[in-house]
Amino acid sequence: MATHPAGPRSGALQHAPSLGNQPNDLNQLDPAVWPASATRAANGEIQIAGVGISALAEQYGTPLFIMDEVDVRTRARNYVAAYDTTEMPTDVYYAGKAFLTTTLAKWLTEEGLHIDVCTAGELEVALRAGVDPAKILFHGNNKSVAELEKAVDAGVGRIVIDSLIEIERLNKVAALRGVTQQVFIRLTVGVEAHTHEFIATAHEDQKFGLSVSSGAALAAAEAVIAAEALSLVGLHSHIGSQIFDAAGFEVAAHRVVDMAAKIRDEFDFTVTELNLGGGMGIAYVEGDDPINVNHMAKAIHDIVITECARVHLPVPKLCVEPGRAIVGGTAITVYEVGTVKPVDVDGGNIRHYLSVDGGMSDNIRTALYDAEYTVALASRSTDSVAAVSRVVGKHCESGDIVVRDAWLPADVAPGDLLAVAATGAYCRAMASNYNYLPRPAVVSVRDGQSQVLLRRETMDDLLALDPGAL
Ligand SMILES: *Cc1c(COP(=O)(O)O)cnc(C)c1O
Repeated sequence: MATHPAGPRSGALQHAPSLGNQPNDLNQLDPAVWPASATRAANGEIQIAGVGISALAEQYGTPLFIMDEVDVRTRARNYVAAYDTTEMPTDVYYAGKAFLTTTLAKWLTEEGLHIDVCTAGELEVALRAGVDPAKILFHGNNKSVAELEKAVDAGVGRIVIDSLIEIERLNKVAALRGVTQQVFIRLTVGVEAHTHEFIATAHEDQKFGLSVSSGAALAAAEAVIAAEALSLVGLHSHIGSQIFDAAGFEVAAHRVVDMAAKIRDEFDFTVTELNLGGGMGIAYVEGDDPINVNHMAKAIHDIVITECARVHLPVPKLCVEPGRAIVGGTAITVYEVGTVKPVDVDGGNIRHYLSVDGGMSDNIRTALYDAEYTVALASRSTDSVAAVSRVVGKHCESGDIVVRDAWLPADVAPGDLLAVAATGAYCRAMASNYNYLPRPAVVSVRDGQSQVLLRRETMDDLLALDPGAL
């Protein structure tokens, strides 16, 4: 067991399960985890795109999401460049559920992405951003009739059929309007992927899609082909999230392509698009090592080409749906520390509980998925020793944890700002008003300037729904 020269106050707790060795330099920002332009300014604070986080915190309040616009655009552009090749034309759909605002949708369409949405609300954001409806894809396992009508009326390019019931529903909606709606059929292919592990089974026990093994998918294909107002363009599969390599996609593509061949053989019908979904992973903590976008794209292209050749199918247009991989790593959350509480957790072993002014209402992923994050003292640098620390929120739940285990400077004090990295996806998008906390603002920064993507909620926003409070 290693001991730290600074004694029990700093890092004497050796049993934090997911905590590695003490970092050599607590001020360092791992470029794999932090936004591309994040650096320490001369005064020691973190700056992004040349804007110091203290000034942003002052101007917009905390907690605050800060997104690096150029980083978003670069990742988006790199995705299109890697996937959309002459050998295999590919549409890259940004999965709007990760985080969506009108400004973000504009950036992404400017960079050549399409947008995928799964509710009327997400669809409305994309439409108000001026996204070409033909470049919108609408999926979801329980789209309401009203949502289907809105999507068809808007002229969305693709709707992903998720059940047999929906075929009838959507056909009716489209027929009434005298249009032919292009659709994918979502397959459940028996692959569940998470990071470098995936499970492949012959059956499926989940709510999404139509099962390949039970014959439901084939029945759906038959029904869509027969439907007067629907046009089957392709098959869709989404195997999971935070995936670090192509192995799971290989099994999924094998099964999707088998289904495409079966549809050809049974119904003399060839699909022209193949959508392998999203789920490409990002680094949240040091050591996370997702395969880079070019290698993943090449691997997926090779898999699709090989699989199609195996069953003598022409190579279809490919579609992918990254969400997290586009925005996750481009933003940070800045919190102000309110209280610091050294807690004796185990006979003299101390853990610093650092309470911040947000918590599970702006980042539910730690509580929900046991997600890990990287956190740093953001408003200044320090030469303090490290302390085993836990960053917790202000909600009335002991599970209200933002970063479960972290080495943070032992001198972190009330008023300091902490920054949590890689909070661009599934944080603000999943935010709640638990305990009547206003949801934080999201600002973007570029070339020394900031811009509001979403303003901070006010007390009036919170009370606007309560007739008795007006
Ligand atoms: C969530 C989701 C995505 C995006 O997943 P990421 O892990 O953010 O890339 C893509 N497609 C579908 C159908 C999804 O449900």
